[in-house]
Amino acid sequence: MRVARSTTTREVVVEELADPSPGPGEVVCRVLACGVCGSDVSDGYVSRKLPAVLGHEVVGEVLAVGTAVTAAAVGDRVVVHHHAPCGDCRRCRRGHETLCDRYRATALDPGGFAEQVRVEAALVPELLALGSVDPLAATFVEPLGCVLRALDRARLRAGDELLVVGAGSNGLLAIAAARARGVARVWVREPREGRRRLAEAWGAKVHTDEPVDVAFLTTASEAAVTDAAAALDAGGVLCLYATTKAGAPLGVDGEQLFLRELTVCSSWSAGPRDMRTAYDLIASGTIDPLELVTHRLGLDETARALDLQRRGEAIKVVVVP
Ligand SMILES: [Zn+2]
Ligand SMILES: [Zn+2]
Repeated sequence: MRVARSTTTREVVVEELADPSPGPGEVVCRVLACGVCGSDVSDGYVSRKLPAVLGHEVVGEVLAVGTAVTAAAVGDRVVVHHHAPCGDCRRCRRGHETLCDRYRATALDPGGFAEQVRVEAALVPELLALGSVDPLAATFVEPLGCVLRALDRARLRAGDELLVVGAGSNGLLAIAAARARGVARVWVREPREGRRRLAEAWGAKVHTDEPVDVAFLTTASEAAVTDAAAALDAGGVLCLYATTKAGAPLGVDGEQLFLRELTVCSSWSAGPRDMRTAYDLIASGTIDPLELVTHRLGLDETARALDLQRRGEAIKVVVVP
């Protein structure tokens, strides 16, 4: 099979590898589509893993199953999650399942930008049957799951006012998810006109100075954090869905945080429950993410796919091996 291996944060080599075969409890899938995630083009995050076959927003068709596999059969089309928590450790029990040791230790072999992927046994029970869902739409189950978890961690409820900062694909998914949750209004801050228009088409209003209960930040630039914190009503929650530079202090006034009972939270990745909820929202048609796919490229064009996502030219790029 062919795989697209990132050797540096800018270079990708397409190479030939032996087809994977499933061990006991494992599954091998032909990759039907794999979305490019913001984390795939985050230099700080990616450089720690290189060289690596990136890609974790995977939809596949089961090619082979190992012994004792009951959760999937050859020919099934499935959404594949790349991590599975143990569900039982201290972190899992406290709701930080994405920081569970087993979650971090599980992975796809070699990664989604490949013709085939081996799904280890711990991940097989988490496979979600595609049914009639379009494979391209299903690549959004993972990113939507991540967004849903963030909105949960920010305790976003029906009737709330939400500010979304940044209308890339994650911001747009947050707008759609919040509306599905019955928020009063979603406000958006986005400097690029095209994205701002899209956010408005997805039901957000352009924010000026309206107080909000939750601010969801897809960028953690100093200005974005300061502006979002200032927009919070008393009791509001600032939800970081992006990181500041390593070592940078967060620009939130400590006195305001205390006197106005503000909360700062962050959210990383998605757990099994988030994946299922995201799948349901897409399968039911409540959220139709296909409009976000601006580019659909073959495996040989993975370098370009990453570049388009990095430069923000694309809303969402999907690699179709
Ligand atoms: Zn992702
Ligand atoms: Zn755990």
